[in-house]
Amino acid sequence: MSFPLTVPAIARRARDLHHAREVVSRQPVGSIGRTTYGAVVERAQRLAGALQLLGLRPGDRVATFCWNHAEHLEAYLAVPSFGAVLHTVNVRLHPDELAYIATHAGDRAIIVDAALLPQLEAFRARTPIEHVIVVGGAAPAGTIAYEELLATAAGSGDDRAADLFAAPGLDEHAAASCCYTSGTTGMPKGVLYSHRCLVMHALSTATADSLAIGQRETILPVVPMFHVNAWGLPYAAALTGAKLVLPGPRLDGASLLELLVDERVTLAAGVPTVFLPLLELLDAAPGAHDLSALHTLVIGGSAAPRALFAGFDRHGITVLHAWGMTELGPIGTIGRVPAEHSAAPPEVQLDRRAKQGRPMPFVEVRARGDEGLVPWDGASYGELEVRGSSVAAAYMGGDGADQFTADGWFRTGDIATIDPDGTIDLKDRAKDLIKSGGEWISSVALENALMGHPAVAEAAVVAVPHERWGERPLAVVVLREGASATAEALRAHLEPGFARWWLPDEIVFADAIPKTATGKFRKTVLRDLHRPA
Ligand code: AMP
Repeated sequence: MSFPLTVPAIARRARDLHHAREVVSRQPVGSIGRTTYGAVVERAQRLAGALQLLGLRPGDRVATFCWNHAEHLEAYLAVPSFGAVLHTVNVRLHPDELAYIATHAGDRAIIVDAALLPQLEAFRARTPIEHVIVVGGAAPAGTIAYEELLATAAGSGDDRAADLFAAPGLDEHAAASCCYTSGTTGMPKGVLYSHRCLVMHALSTATADSLAIGQRETILPVVPMFHVNAWGLPYAAALTGAKLVLPGPRLDGASLLELLVDERVTLAAGVPTVFLPLLELLDAAPGAHDLSALHTLVIGGSAAPRALFAGFDRHGITVLHAWGMTELGPIGTIGRVPAEHSAAPPEVQLDRRAKQGRPMPFVEVRARGDEGLVPWDGASYGELEVRGSSVAAAYMGGDGADQFTADGWFRTGDIATIDPDGTIDLKDRAKDLIKSGGEWISSVALENALMGHPAVAEAAVVAVPHERWGERPLAVVVLREGASATAEALRAHLEPGFARWWLPDEIVFADAIPKTATGKFRKTVLRDLHRPA
């Protein structure tokens, strides 16, 4: 049967089957708000009607500038349901970048957290935004209060809002949402997701060998809903009826721990940097916090250091590694240990878990070296190429056409080996690999090893130009508060694990490592900073 795979189909399922399941949000003021999928979908329906009464039409872009909360979920369901495109804007970007992407996307309306209004004002005048809709606080002159907007739909007598989620009316290939790449170099590029892409991604992530999401789970996406759809988790949760816990703006270790304990969260997901403080809190008082419900932390966005896997193992919590990109919807691979290795000793399993894992259903990978595609032998380096039901076929406006191969695969820019069983092991971003004397050194491998030292909080390794070797590695290390270690001690820590020529020529200490808006090391800045005069 030709049944369109669309966001409204997810909303209908949430409304009809999961209406009593909870959606919990941390409000900006810190208190906890509780609602249900039933109420969220009913309000999403009104939001969709009200947006149309404002004059928004299919194909129009409606932006959000919000933390993770129930109203953001309402926008996730409402905007695509009448054919408009949800543009989730990253609140951590620079005003110039924000002005660029809101203009590039052609955003006509924006739903914004009251607390983020000052940030919006810093770029709004440079964009085509006509309507500003304010959530969770007072709406200043010239803006619309979210709750008042919802009320207009109820009383309008206009039937556009009445039965929005009733019929399978939309084309599954139509655009449903869009995101911009984080752009560590150059301007961000836009990626459009179709309804089908979002549905397939939600289905694939929910499968047992992916994230195993079902109605018995309680999910906490720490990853922001303004960054690649919070890894698609809001849609996967609404589809399956998992209870959803949304952390609002409070992503510090103590606030997360409180939510994990109080809401009996079973699975949380985010970048490594948000889980390091949590591990420190657990290590400081083993057994003091009731995390008996929590079984899995999905960690990705940048390489999860081995120390995190072993660290959370100590507390009976499994770290599951995931790799992805904005262009992949975003999850590509998941580090579940294949069944044939399930009896292997813990150390061997840890080696496998620390890799980025195998592709989700309907994601296909291959790697290309200088002489063509490389074999799946776990040793040959190549740039990963990907295709699949949630992989972008192009960037918006024809940007970056050279990132797609002639036969339709997306070139990731990530360098990896692929094991015979399809497990990928990410070595580096192509531009971050260090080429010393014609041989490759993986900055990620060195960083992970350094972050395994008990005194090290964070470590970034970059290439610095070298007369004889072309490039050599330099490490920038941030020590844990109150801890101390010398460069010699850190070199000695690395020595057993690496060939001598891999060891950084220099280890420098810093107070912090500059990061991008999505929490990745800004290596371009470090390279410039440490370039020899
Ligand atoms: P973004 O589009 O902002 O999600 O960034 C995607 C990039 O993040 C990828 O191309 C990788 O370089 C990096 N990345 C994501 N997940 C991982 C991971 N698990 N391990 C290593 N790098 C990762």
